Amino acid sequence: MRKKIWKNFLGLSLAVALLMVALATSVLYVTFDRQLDAQLKQEAVLMASMLESTPNNLPFLENALFTNRITWIAADGSVLYDNQSSAKTMSNHLQREEIAEAIESGIGNAKRVSQTLRDEQVYYAVRMTDGTFLRLSASQKSLGGMMWQMLGWVLLGFACITVLTGLISRRLTRKLVAPINAIDLEDPLGNEVYDEFSPMLRRMEEQNRKITGQVQEISARQGELNALIGSMREGLVILDGKQHVLAMNQSAVEILGSGGKKSDHHKLWEYHRHPDLRRAVEEAAQNGNAKAQLSVSSREYVVNASAVDGNRGMVLLFQDCTERNEAERARKRFTANVSHELRTPLTTIGGYAELMQNNMVKPEDVPSFAGRIHGESMRLLKLVEDILHLSRLDEGFAHGTRQNVALDQVANAAAQGLFEAAKAKNVSVSVEGSTGMVSGDAVLLEEMLRNLIENGIKYNRDGGTVRVLLSESAEACLVSVEDSGIGIPKEHCDKVFERFYRVDSSRSKETGGTGLGLSIVKHGAEYHHAVIALESKINQGTRITLTFPKA
Ligand code: ADP
Repeated sequence: MRKKIWKNFLGLSLAVALLMVALATSVLYVTFDRQLDAQLKQEAVLMASMLESTPNNLPFLENALFTNRITWIAADGSVLYDNQSSAKTMSNHLQREEIAEAIESGIGNAKRVSQTLRDEQVYYAVRMTDGTFLRLSASQKSLGGMMWQMLGWVLLGFACITVLTGLISRRLTRKLVAPINAIDLEDPLGNEVYDEFSPMLRRMEEQNRKITGQVQEISARQGELNALIGSMREGLVILDGKQHVLAMNQSAVEILGSGGKKSDHHKLWEYHRHPDLRRAVEEAAQNGNAKAQLSVSSREYVVNASAVDGNRGMVLLFQDCTERNEAERARKRFTANVSHELRTPLTTIGGYAELMQNNMVKPEDVPSFAGRIHGESMRLLKLVEDILHLSRLDEGFAHGTRQNVALDQVANAAAQGLFEAAKAKNVSVSVEGSTGMVSGDAVLLEEMLRNLIENGIKYNRDGGTVRVLLSESAEACLVSVEDSGIGIPKEHCDKVFERFYRVDSSRSKETGGTGLGLSIVKHGAEYHHAVIALESKINQGTRITLTFPKA
């Protein structure tokens, strides 16, 4: 801007100066020219009359002191006398403009420019009574000559103007620009600048308001988006076209780890080097999308990689599928176990029935065979009942009724139901203490306690005891089933609640066990928000305690 102002200022100054010089020179030239004209005319007329009144013309001319050139020309145009040249060598002057004019009107003048154009010669000729002509001439600077003469000064003047305008324009620019530089763009209307700036400042204020509004809106949306992405359970990673991480949410950081990186823009491989992840990303870069299974610190993830906008970027979504996979595996295990468990009694039943059908059983053995078939079919029935029970519990016990249940009554009923079984095993069952009400399903609760008491009887010694101990605290109702049986080895304690898990398979089957009893207890406890605790000592006994929240 300063340069522009300086240039304009300088241009203007020089133009003005040039104009002034041209004007002054022209005025001077015209003035001098008129002056010389008048002077020369006057002198020519005076000289002519003096010459006419003098008898000795030539000596008069020769002796006169003239600064101007004087020429005396005969009527035929030949030069009679010239004070600056030899008259003899001079050509005939009859055709000269001033002489021709003097012949016509008695007096004539002419102006001739020198070859260099810098000087011009002014002539005045007067026709005298004897027909001769007296001509006076003087030289003066032509307009161009005058200018040429002044050129040095003019250039000096221009140089001064250039320096001066440089200095002035610098000061001027500083003064002009200072208020503009001081404009507070944050508060355009709070500035006191030139009036001409007011529309611009108003526009700025309007723009500022618009921008602030838009920025607020964008930040709010960004905040919402970040909160949304941040709270996603799925890991989200956004890559650029060169597989540099542009953004990753907290879940992704937890899955891949930050790798000690405080900022993004690192290659994805610097976070995690899993070959399947790399393969998925490379495949997605080629085909648009790809899937991979990833196992990171005992969790399993499905990674969906999708290239965006012709591989200018990529979105990776990590979904935790540990539970789903585990459930799938459990389902497969369960199906295999169920088939196996069902096949065993059915094979036995089928085998015995076939023998009887082919009369291969002695009549006296028939009751025993029929008894075994009955026993196996009972076991089968129990198994099917337990499986159905478990599948109902798996579905969240949708049909269960939740009501206040007196745990004392349930415990007594369960113990009563097993009286015969206990007697057969020579085990005494007792219910001791009392407790409060729990919120739940009476049938399921009785089933749970029956399973525990039944286990206490089954895995007991001859003459052993099973004690059902009821108690309560301020917030909880407790039921413990304590037996004096064989106990559970420590390494099996965590697993006995799994489906079909048995410590001693043959003993369990012998006693009609299905391997599902404790599983039902575990699921039932979950349904009732109860906590299970198991304590056991080999050959001393087992105690399983259920702690229910009070109704
Ligand atoms: P089962 O029908 O085989 O009894 P459960 O699920 O009820 O199935 O029990 C799982 C396994 O835990 C049993 O096979 C048994 O080995 C062990 N178990 C359960 N309760 C007791 C107990 N009170 N004493 C000793 N072992 C037990």
